[in-house]
Amino acid sequence: MKKIFKKITALFCAAVMLAAILPYSALAAGKNGNYKLIALTFDDGPGRYTSQLLDGLKERNVPATFFVLGSNAKSYPDLLKRMVKEGHQLASHTYSHAQLTTLSSSGIKSEINNTRNLLAAAGGDQTYYIRPPYGSYNSTVKSCAGAPLILWSVDPEDWKYRNTTTVTNNIMNAVQDGDIILLHDIYSTSVNAALNVIDKLKAKGYEFVTVSELLRRRGITPENGGVYYRAKNNGINLGPKVPWDETAYDESKLSSHWAYSAISFALDNGIMTRNSDGAFAPNKYITRGDFAAALAKLYIYSGGALNEPEMESIKFKDVSETSAYADYVKWTAASGIMAGYGNGIFGINDFLTREQMAICVERYLKYCGCETDYGADFTLKYNDASSIASWAVSGVKYCSAAGLLKGDNDGNFTPKKNTTRAQAATTAMRLFESSADIMSPSESEDIEPTYTEDIPV
Ligand code: ZN
Repeated sequence: MKKIFKKITALFCAAVMLAAILPYSALAAGKNGNYKLIALTFDDGPGRYTSQLLDGLKERNVPATFFVLGSNAKSYPDLLKRMVKEGHQLASHTYSHAQLTTLSSSGIKSEINNTRNLLAAAGGDQTYYIRPPYGSYNSTVKSCAGAPLILWSVDPEDWKYRNTTTVTNNIMNAVQDGDIILLHDIYSTSVNAALNVIDKLKAKGYEFVTVSELLRRRGITPENGGVYYRAKNNGINLGPKVPWDETAYDESKLSSHWAYSAISFALDNGIMTRNSDGAFAPNKYITRGDFAAALAKLYIYSGGALNEPEMESIKFKDVSETSAYADYVKWTAASGIMAGYGNGIFGINDFLTREQMAICVERYLKYCGCETDYGADFTLKYNDASSIASWAVSGVKYCSAAGLLKGDNDGNFTPKKNTTRAQAATTAMRLFESSADIMSPSESEDIEPTYTEDIPV
């Protein structure tokens, strides 16, 4: 089967390969479901009881939101990473617990930016909501925040009572659907009370969510500088986007995963790597940083070199020069394949969406010299075509014309839906098959890919 793809054009090749991998079934989520939602939030940590709290949350499959202090966060980088990994929302409580209303604009920004940099090292949703210390804000704080300001609706005064029973009762006596509960994970009594409250409220049918998920499920799109205390059910009560452990995968069964041949291709050739636990996590969403690294490594594997002349001058605020991703990100930017958000941010820890994948596929093949024409009069027929970002339209058109990407059963493209690591591995393998002969005609690899017609994505 050597050089099986040599005579096939890139477009045809990609069309055959990618056709099956990206259809997406819309998640069934009613506009007004019967959910009772609570967001637990923890301020002032991390501290010496935080890992015990994380253990308790994990046992109960409960995500929380941590408004960490930068001054504490720098001592616990591993705990921050654990929070992100276990599905919690990482957020900011400023660097030094400053009363922001007493600071100048530049003072406020430095409190926020210093903390943001520490949080960025741990990843997570890079919005990094802010809880101003003492709940204290004014118009200057709002305009400098660069993120939503999250207050609370239930305050058991755990810092004052330091008594598990009292704190538990204070919460249970006050709590209602949509509340944001304020606690501090620097007190063991608060950690114990939080776990008690979870058990009691779960028994009453409450579901625990992060603050960002609480807002999303109540139809609220938070704005930078906006102030949020709770999210009551005002007629929009959505279901879960991704259940807590839906993306978990039993790694011992990896060889029976639908994308196993692509996963093997990606792992065996160093295009993607396992995480620190040795897991590939095929059903987790891939980050933009990991996808950039995969494309760069794929390019090298295909015989190319990351030597774009302007690479050295490229800088992103969220990618440090010493990051393992730095060269890959610079190359994808210099080659025009992934250019970042245009505001100095690459979005390295953000998930790669379907529309981003589409434009990357088009640009990568074009960069490798493959034909990517789809015809000037090609029209997208998806119901939600108008929601495709303007910069992604050509990529979606290309992938759609070539049959690489399809809509869901309702005729929607779902451009903002995230891409899993298994899908990314599959794309990497198929990009290799599509571009390898063009890039290095004398060095085509002897691979024999297997095709799956109906991949359950
Ligand atoms: Zn505080």
